[in-house]
Amino acid sequence: MPIPIPCPGAHNSAWRRAEQLRAEDGIPHDITPVFGQPVHCTRCCARTRAELLALPELLAAVWLEALHSSPGPKTGTIGRSPASPRWPGEPSRLLTDHIVGGLLTLEDDIRSLRRLRPRPTGPSEGAAVTEAVRFLSTHLDWALIEHPAADETHDRLSANPAAQIHAWHTAAQQFTGRDTRPVHHRVPCPRCELLTLYRDDGDTYIECRNITCGVLLTTEEYAAHIQHLAAEYRQITAA
Ligand SMILES: [Zn+2]
Ligand SMILES: [Zn+2]
Repeated sequence: MPIPIPCPGAHNSAWRRAEQLRAEDGIPHDITPVFGQPVHCTRCCARTRAELLALPELLAAVWLEALHSSPGPKTGTIGRSPASPRWPGEPSRLLTDHIVGGLLTLEDDIRSLRRLRPRPTGPSEGAAVTEAVRFLSTHLDWALIEHPAADETHDRLSANPAAQIHAWHTAAQQFTGRDTRPVHHRVPCPRCELLTLYRDDGDTYIECRNITCGVLLTTEEYAAHIQHLAAEYRQITAA
């Protein structure tokens, strides 16, 4: 097993920025990164798996959106924005092509890296998606540790399999209007003391959205923090 490294997930961006400032200008910091197991942290691994497994159903919803979408723009050029779709289902087709193309490319990539036989060609798009998701979930633990891009910092252009899956999942959720608002926990963050603690739908972690902080709390740590705040409040009011 390789030595654990700080998780390349977006939640460690505050630590990465602080490290950069320390390297460039010698500015010290006391941010502790979340370490990987050994590359991605357990939270990023669990989230990536859940997002991957949700893709077939989300892609079906994107396709349904095309069937029920409003008719295309009226003919004629007056008032027609250049970004208007050329036919009613076009945006959903483009997004589907983007996600399905990405899934199949990632499958091909892993097959070639792991010296497995090439992906069988010929099945319908739906069958190919089911098969790609099945293949990727089987090889996900490997992909999040051993893939050449596994330690790349997550951003929109990253080839990191976790970042790619997250980007497809987010795009499909936004397209189908299913992106849920995060729950805002209105108590001061234990690290930066700002009211920036949020929990995403279905996530077991509470995250500070202050970009210079980014602390991650488990539900147990959050509960302990609340108890600590309540005890402090009792002391203040009793004084
Ligand atoms: Zn992580
Ligand atoms: Zn914070």
